[in-house]
Amino acid sequence: MNHSDRAGLARSTSASDFAESLSGITPVTRLPLELNGEETLWNLQAFRSNGGEEAIALHSAAEPKAEVAAPLVRIHSGCITGDVLHSLRCDCQAQLKLALDYLVRSPGGLLIYLPAHEGRGIGLFQKVRTYALQDHGLDTIDANLAVGAPADARNFGFAASILHFYGLTRVRLMTNNPDKTAQLNQHGINVLERVPLRIPPNRHNQHYLQTKQVRCGHD
Ligand SMILES: [Zn+2]
Repeated sequence: MNHSDRAGLARSTSASDFAESLSGITPVTRLPLELNGEETLWNLQAFRSNGGEEAIALHSAAEPKAEVAAPLVRIHSGCITGDVLHSLRCDCQAQLKLALDYLVRSPGGLLIYLPAHEGRGIGLFQKVRTYALQDHGLDTIDANLAVGAPADARNFGFAASILHFYGLTRVRLMTNNPDKTAQLNQHGINVLERVPLRIPPNRHNQHYLQTKQVRCGHD
């Protein structure tokens, strides 16, 4: 089944179940990525939600060997300081790279990248404000609360809609965050397995990762 067939099937069977309908979908294009010193080829498609939120979806362009029953999925929250600048204050870039490593070896899987989830959904400006507060001893949760933001403002309904679009309703989710699994279940995505993306801490992100484990129940 090619992707347009699969998309048509998803639209006809589960459109009414979408947590949030999609207002725009681009054609599929190719995106070559350098990964571990090698060129890898991906299919890229962009999405827009009714509320104007944007996302991209990447799936390996390698020929699938068999129909995948429960493909690997990564829903990645955008992080400019981590993903682009390779900041050591968080583990985002390492998780993104590890997820791509898994996906390139597991055809049928999908990565959804959500730029609007910057700073657990509070935005880049607010995130940098919380970094300044963390410099003075607040942890990542209390710093969010101190700037008047929720500890975690992310909603995964849009990502769930994209998974429905591809017909991926039974997935193995690469995440350390149990709340993400719960939210997807509420939006009709059956997470059969959670695959943690454990990144060894460094001296800059050790406290941040510990806080997410202790206060958010992360792996
Ligand atoms: Zn980050």
